Amino acid sequence: VFKALVVNKTEDDFSLGFKDVSTDDLPKGEVLIEVHYSSVNYKDGLASIPKGKIVQSYPFIPGIDLAGTVVSSIDPRYKEGDKVIATSYEIGVSHFGGYSQYARIPGDWVVPLPKGLTLKEAMIYGTAGFTAALSVHRLEENGLTPEKGKVLVTGATGGVGSIAVAILHKRGYEVVASTGKESEHDYLHTLGANEVITRGDVVPENIRPLDKQYWAGAVDPVGGTTLAALLSRMDYGGSVAVSGLTGGMDVATTVFPFILRGVNLLGIDSVYCPMELRKVIWERMANEYKPESLAQIAVESELNDLPQHLSSILKGQVRGRVVVKL
Ligand code: NAP
Repeated sequence: VFKALVVNKTEDDFSLGFKDVSTDDLPKGEVLIEVHYSSVNYKDGLASIPKGKIVQSYPFIPGIDLAGTVVSSIDPRYKEGDKVIATSYEIGVSHFGGYSQYARIPGDWVVPLPKGLTLKEAMIYGTAGFTAALSVHRLEENGLTPEKGKVLVTGATGGVGSIAVAILHKRGYEVVASTGKESEHDYLHTLGANEVITRGDVVPENIRPLDKQYWAGAVDPVGGTTLAALLSRMDYGGSVAVSGLTGGMDVATTVFPFILRGVNLLGIDSVYCPMELRKVIWERMANEYKPESLAQIAVESELNDLPQHLSSILKGQVRGRVVVKL
């Protein structure tokens, strides 16, 4: 018997609380993992509220990220004691996730922990960090280099944003960080931002179809009007990697940035990113992308304090990443 955070919803009731669970309660899968760390993502926040539209059936154990050691495996690729990461696919959505001392996961969703990362560092990154890394990878695949010009990161104090700032700095880029938090400018400079600007600096009152050209690349986990504004302000041939919707899902843009300036809009999906590429990205995160400041991006939480962090991330109040110790 072990401990897990369980959400339950019936016709007239919703609950979020710690329960004793046994391995018999865990879903099917080839690999049984003792979870050492999990983390807090925006999606986990949504899974913890009645109208979050993330969890597919109840009762449920959320947590889209987990890292730990293999207890037993009927998948020959894994054996007892192996250190592994499991994120994405249906984990924390329709398959019990990481807010549990043990998890049973299909072998096809498991990534061996790369050399150069601890289990804790893997969860400081988590899905948010993977998304930031995939964004940088896709921008560079589309021609971005430090010589091309400045790179903007929106929602910069968030999970995706903080890690994107730190990775881009490590890669030698001139990083412009946009944030709504006046109190966090020093934090962003510490991660390697060369310039910190406000959300208002990114989104003008009237978004023109084309505006002055400011940035060669952008990592945008905010979306909405922010994305509309920055498309009209990208350099000729620049690229935007869009991963999120914290600022809204509707994007009112025109064709002009695309047909007159050759701007690329790159969609970033961590959930069904093919395994082959997923492993390449995790390798990079353990090596050439790994920022000096990785530890400074996260705070560690006990399982008991998790409900409070889940509610903070929904209010946009989390700085960087929260790692959960199981
Ligand atoms: P997060 O830690 O909550 O960060 C979001 C940041 O956006 C906030 O810290 C805040 O930063 C900024 N923000 C909040 N409300 C805003 C608003 N109304 N307008 C403009 N900016 C606002 O969340 P996260 O984990 O980084 O995730 C960010 C987004 O990416 C979410 O939508 C998430 O669902 C998505 N995501 C997508 C994938 C994928 O595979 N595509 C993977 C992971 C996450 P500042 O205060 O610094 O501005």
